[in-house]
Amino acid sequence: MEVRTRMAPSPTGEYHVGHIRTLMYNYAFARQNKGKFILRIEDTDRERYVPGAVERIQDVIKMMGFEWDEGPGAGGPYSPYTQSERLDLYKKHALELVEKGHAYYCFCTEERLEKLREEQKASGTAFSKYDRLCLKLTREEIEEKLKAGVPHVIRMKVPDNEDISFDDLILGKITINTQSIDDQVLIKTDGFPTYHMAVVVDDHLMKISHIMRGTDWVPSTPKHVLLYRFFGWELPKFVHLPNLKEVEGTRKLSKRYGSVSVIEFLTEGYLPRALNNFLMFLGWNPGTEKEVYSMEEFIKDFSIEHIQKTDLVAFDRQKLLWLNGLYIRNLPSAELWDELKSWAKRFDVFLYGKDTEEKIVFAALDLVKDRMKLLSEYNSLVHYFFETPEIEKEELFSFVSDETRGKEILEGFKNIFSEAGDWEVQKLDTVAHEFIAVKEYKPKEAFMTLRIALTGETATPQILDILGILGKEAVLKRLDSALKI
Ligand code: GLU
Repeated sequence: MEVRTRMAPSPTGEYHVGHIRTLMYNYAFARQNKGKFILRIEDTDRERYVPGAVERIQDVIKMMGFEWDEGPGAGGPYSPYTQSERLDLYKKHALELVEKGHAYYCFCTEERLEKLREEQKASGTAFSKYDRLCLKLTREEIEEKLKAGVPHVIRMKVPDNEDISFDDLILGKITINTQSIDDQVLIKTDGFPTYHMAVVVDDHLMKISHIMRGTDWVPSTPKHVLLYRFFGWELPKFVHLPNLKEVEGTRKLSKRYGSVSVIEFLTEGYLPRALNNFLMFLGWNPGTEKEVYSMEEFIKDFSIEHIQKTDLVAFDRQKLLWLNGLYIRNLPSAELWDELKSWAKRFDVFLYGKDTEEKIVFAALDLVKDRMKLLSEYNSLVHYFFETPEIEKEELFSFVSDETRGKEILEGFKNIFSEAGDWEVQKLDTVAHEFIAVKEYKPKEAFMTLRIALTGETATPQILDILGILGKEAVLKRLDSALKI
């Protein structure tokens, strides 16, 4: 059997990081088994449809480095892969179930259903369910109503009090009694199918072998299992993956704690490969100490057996930040610069150094990348390499007893640096230390004052290294302007 997995996003908003985790597992499993990975757009909920979301979801999936073998844009043997373009198919299948007696027309109005729900609630019924009033209609009555164009839905006829079971490759055998299952609407009044109808028809017609999705879909699966049975189709394999939660408690990921959608993380300056690496471990674990994984390695090592058997896994934002910093640190500066440039272009961000010689940018990156956890931190870490800093007097002399002493120090540095023959960090370092020793300055007061004068910052890499990159002319000019403050 060919392995065929799918990701089936609904265009109801921005693509969530949890979706990328699920997508990655589906993708890796298909790649590992030389199968196919399919993208299907589930756009049947017209009320929650967000214009533009279909395109944005596809863009984000590509930005994260994934491509699909079949789906929008790629085509494939089971086109179209967008559900709103497959309405006739769902209708045809729903009518087949009506014919077989597994589904029925329902003409009840929303008002009646609302009233029914209220009555059931008031009488303390555990599950509010449709009372099957329309099941009593005769063939003639149904024909008449259809002819008169009375708005209607098609409902699935769920068998009474029956245990429905299915095997989940992670969770094992799951059984749910039909007492807790309503006669699910399959086709809505607008002629669109519900998720349950469309997902089953499409997963079957598109020959999906493994369905991997979040555990929140477990309660829906018995309905799907029943539909497979009604149609006489073979069940695919079900794999329900843990959902993501914030570290504390059982809360879903929430904006209150940080980004939620993939595009937000990318805007902040997370590298796709670092985000992917982090997401891989949310539900799967190789069972070794290895933490840094490329996509190729993940495709090789991923296995369904190593997926955690749990509802929720914690999304540790601190760990993600740490991992992103690790990736940034480990990138050669030339590659990091490429990443920064494409990030800035994509999100329309200004970048210091984009009109400067690359040699200088790489040298600056070599010095600061250890401190960079997000691409968005770049500008604030390197600004002083590319522009004269603005400095307040109070700040400039905050490490010396008074202004006179501070100026004396800066004057002294200016003199020794202007006499320097070769502008070489090692040599500058030696003369700077000699100067401090002779004058009996404390290294901290001298170097901090020099640091602030040249960079406007109190926390930077080694100041002598910065001097090396700035060059003699800029250093002397900045010392001059500092002295004039
Ligand atoms: N369209 C559903 C969603 O947005 C897909 C669920 C499934 O994978 O079956 O999550």
